[in-house]
Amino acid sequence: GPTRDEVLAMRHQFVNPGVLTYYRDPLMIVEGNMQYLWDETGKRYLDGFAGIVTVSVGHCHPHVASAIRAQAGTLQHTTTIYLHPTIAQFAAKLASKMPTNEIGEKLDKTYFTNSGSEANEVAILMSREFTGNHDVIGLRNGYHGGTSLTMGLTSHGTWKFPANQSAGITHTHAGYCYRCPYGLEYPSCNLKCAHDIKSVIEYQTNGNIACFIGEPIQGVGGAVVPPPEYFKIVYDIVRQHGGLCIADEVQGGFGRTGKHYWSHQNWGVKPDLITMAKGIGNGAPLGGVTTTTPISQTMTKRIHFNTYGGNPISMASGLATMEVIDAEGIQENALNVGEHLKNGLLELQEKHPLIGDVRGMGLMIGVELVTDRESKNPAKQEAADLMEMTKQRGLILGKGGLHANTMRIKPPMCITKDDADFMLVTIDECLELIES
Ligand code: PMP
Repeated sequence: GPTRDEVLAMRHQFVNPGVLTYYRDPLMIVEGNMQYLWDETGKRYLDGFAGIVTVSVGHCHPHVASAIRAQAGTLQHTTTIYLHPTIAQFAAKLASKMPTNEIGEKLDKTYFTNSGSEANEVAILMSREFTGNHDVIGLRNGYHGGTSLTMGLTSHGTWKFPANQSAGITHTHAGYCYRCPYGLEYPSCNLKCAHDIKSVIEYQTNGNIACFIGEPIQGVGGAVVPPPEYFKIVYDIVRQHGGLCIADEVQGGFGRTGKHYWSHQNWGVKPDLITMAKGIGNGAPLGGVTTTTPISQTMTKRIHFNTYGGNPISMASGLATMEVIDAEGIQENALNVGEHLKNGLLELQEKHPLIGDVRGMGLMIGVELVTDRESKNPAKQEAADLMEMTKQRGLILGKGGLHANTMRIKPPMCITKDDADFMLVTIDECLELIES
């Protein structure tokens, strides 16, 4: 194949310059195997970011890779206008993991898309059709996608998405305690941020909304974990105003948060629609929204179509990924290794003043860097340096958060405690150099 320099030159000439690359000197990856990646020189990296929280069970996992190969050699594409087995099999497998809504109806009808953005679009479309209302409430610091509607919903410091692309989108405060917009402390705050949604609905909409959409733990926003009662309060208020509740499980789903298959289950709430993408397909372009039978009926009016949604290869990949999660104790591993890693990071916090906050659940962890703990000034430069330095030492991390100062650690969920220890030693060593 072409050399790295040739790839860079071709990319420079032919690929839109807005296509994001990480690192001052972009990293080229030519091979992956489980939790490891290799560059063109043969250097190995521990992948702490899983292709943005997408490769859930490991790069080129043998069961998933062989399912994709087999499907590609049998039937690649027809669209959904003809029956094929994998869409039905995968939808049934998904339904087996689904909770019920508030009144005990099973969420067992899935509409497949190619991405998380589209899954959220379709969830909002169904909510609007079902309720007859238009307005949508999202969370500050949230990320829901890059289509016109979801761009307006994405409310995030480091992304300059044009806000409110589409009318009828409003935001309310997320439960981001480390940077409480009111300067209050939990629990004496009485969850002011959660109760806020009432006045947002009553003063910024006509009082009746289509839906609320939120990530149960914010992903791009930097593994923001709200107080445990936050979502219950918000869901109750949303329902009092006629709205449906959408849980965006694009990052937090499929066991990543450890104790539960879906991240919203950590909060004891029951959404009406669950959207998913990324980790669902282990890298195959795949998204979906699952809901109850009555809500799913809204789509029978021919209000949406998707050529690749439910395509055989993505379905085969999704089904195989879910089989691996069950067969290999992936969720339990996320819980155990995640806890080990988080405890190690909390120990590093005692030693390194740069670490302002360590948060997360399972293998969805955020480490927020600050120049000093009193002012909580975002340590943007230091976070960027840490990215570069860990890369040199063979560790890939993610970065995000409101001020691009939160390290995001969301590896393939097959990582071991030894891998976690390598992460800890590497981060420790790099922070020491940055602080000296
Ligand atoms: N929701 C969440 C929570 C996400 O993190 C993302 C992607 N970062 C999306 C939706 C959009 O997914 P996609 O990029 O597949 O459209």
